[in-house]
Amino acid sequence: MPEQSNDYRVVVFGAGGVGKSSLVVRFVKGTFRDTYIPTVEDTYTQVISCDKSVCTLQITDTTGSHQFPAMQRLSISKGHAFILVYSITSRQSLEELRPIYQQLLAIKGSVDSVPVMLVGNKADEPQREVEVRDGEAQARSWKCAFMETSAKTNHNVTELFQELLSLDKRRSMNLNIDAKRSGKQRRADKLKAKCSIM
Ligand code: GDP
Ligand code: MG
Repeated sequence: MPEQSNDYRVVVFGAGGVGKSSLVVRFVKGTFRDTYIPTVEDTYTQVISCDKSVCTLQITDTTGSHQFPAMQRLSISKGHAFILVYSITSRQSLEELRPIYQQLLAIKGSVDSVPVMLVGNKADEPQREVEVRDGEAQARSWKCAFMETSAKTNHNVTELFQELLSLDKRRSMNLNIDAKRSGKQRRADKLKAKCSIM
């Protein structure tokens, strides 16, 4: 598979119940539900702007830390960027990311050129077990970026994906597919849309 394919693959890892599916669904569909539905493995796609053209952002929502080891290895080798999610209400969920991070490091060799974001989700919850500074310290030691989010209140959700994409210096990616296009191109598109309505 060529390194610069037209797909950009993001993989979301983390213990069961930390809010991986909620973050992905909030980002892709803009909705949130309070009920917990365990995930098998789902991939969502979105069109984004990439190097003056468009490409497909593929987001894989994994089952959690008890994923089949072979599937986990495959997701890591195929992935371009990674989101490691814990819940700020559970120190244990942060601990559970350690073996995933270690496997990521082992498979990719180094995380220097791999975008990785450590995410403390459920930032809306008052029952906090992991302080912001603990998340930041963990991210420093893993040489990755850090952000707290809430899928429930929609805090930092779009920012998380935009920031992750901007960490990749080999491509210039933007969630807004119109951002990189010229006014001329947008006018041509508008005209096309008008013509197809007629
Ligand atoms: P997953 O197993 O990591 O995919 O977790 P889910 O996305 O299925 O979420 C597990 C539970 O946590 C569900 O009941 C969600 O409603 C809840 N949840 C997810 N994100 C948040 C959040 O940001 N804040 C709060 N308070 N609850 C959340
Ligand atoms: Mg899930």
